[in-house]
Amino acid sequence: MKNWDAIIIGSGIIGLSLARELHKSSLKVLVLERGQPGREASHAAAGMLADGAEIPPALRELATLSARLYPEFAFEVHDESGINPDLRDFGTIWIPGEQPLDVPSAALTQSQLAEIEPALSMQRHAAYLLKERSVDPRALTEALWKAAKHREIDISTGVEARTILTENGAATGVQANKTEYHAKVIVNCAGAWAGEILPCPIPVRPVKGHMLSVIDGPKLKHVIRSSEVYLVPRSDGRIVIGSTLEEVGFDKRVDAEIIQRLYRSAIELVPELKKARIHESWAGLRPGTPDDLPILGKTEINGYFVASGHFRDGILLAPVTAQIMSQLITDGKTDLDIAAFSPQRYS
Ligand SMILES: Cc1cc2nc3c(=O)[nH]c(=O)nc-3n(C[C@H](O)[C@H](O)[C@H](O)COP(=O)(O)OP(=O)(O)OC[C@H]3O[C@@H](n4cnc5c(N)ncnc54)[C@H](O)[C@@H]3O)c2cc1C
Repeated sequence: MKNWDAIIIGSGIIGLSLARELHKSSLKVLVLERGQPGREASHAAAGMLADGAEIPPALRELATLSARLYPEFAFEVHDESGINPDLRDFGTIWIPGEQPLDVPSAALTQSQLAEIEPALSMQRHAAYLLKERSVDPRALTEALWKAAKHREIDISTGVEARTILTENGAATGVQANKTEYHAKVIVNCAGAWAGEILPCPIPVRPVKGHMLSVIDGPKLKHVIRSSEVYLVPRSDGRIVIGSTLEEVGFDKRVDAEIIQRLYRSAIELVPELKKARIHESWAGLRPGTPDDLPILGKTEINGYFVASGHFRDGILLAPVTAQIMSQLITDGKTDLDIAAFSPQRYS
């Protein structure tokens, strides 16, 4: 029977980033994936690396560090895979609507706005320029998957993990739909489905988001984010438009009405979008938690860890999650204090 040092459940951006990091520390890693690698929330995301004004205070340190790690992370994954994750560094025009408590800088004047993003309509509300980057999450997860293969990390697809196997209070492996897999370290990176794996209940729930992308629209340089809608340009000319926050369970069906509503809100911000064509529409499930904070750390079973519940920020938080979880698994401690994110805070 084959043995691994660590088994990761789930091959979204979190599972793949962690697998790569553990492999860098010379661990033999197996990734178990129920469907296809990176086809769930990580495939649905917009890719804003929004570490600024709207991050909850408890997440700020983690978010800032992850944003700082991104250029090197993206460069390395690009280099290892040959796939460009389209890391863009032009900033975000943020139009919060109500005056925010904590303004990052002076509001842009109408003439500054017209100069830096000519396609944007005249704004009634104050707009701010945030130093945030964006990335193409689909390209990034594909690149991570290719990088994992290149590193000879084992990935088994079509395998549904069901139960963590234990002996004397310590993890020994995973019972999956077809067979058992053995390792002393198991990490639950199953995104919105993390709570379905037994025996420890993990209170993650799906929070649905609708998205669309358009082509043949105006050229946008910045991410534009208002209180209604956001627009995220890709370097190939696509513009990704989102999103909703819906508590409807595990339902990824696309509602054409909601897509049209998002599109209309986007046209209000950028009128030239009227001439664009809808290229694709989709919906994905964010892994939400009761306190909107991720779940990172040890469970009460020795050797069984969780890295899930990244809600609206999993793309942003992938590099720092991989780094701190790898430290915790290999050294038993982390540079950052992650007590606030412990899975045991719910027990
Ligand atoms: C519409 C939308 C927009 C978003 N925009 C942004 C954004 O702009 N910026 C940002 O930072 N974040 C954004 N997010 C959030 C981000 O996408 C998520 O936080 C992140 O992708 C979570 O990654 P993950 O790897 O934990 O989950 P996922 O990508 O969902 O991966 C989990 C994987 O686990 C697998 N799995 C589940 N159960 C099992 C099992 N029992 N056995 C084996 N495999 C299993 C699934 O098939 C899946 O592949 C957005 C999300 C959505 C839905």
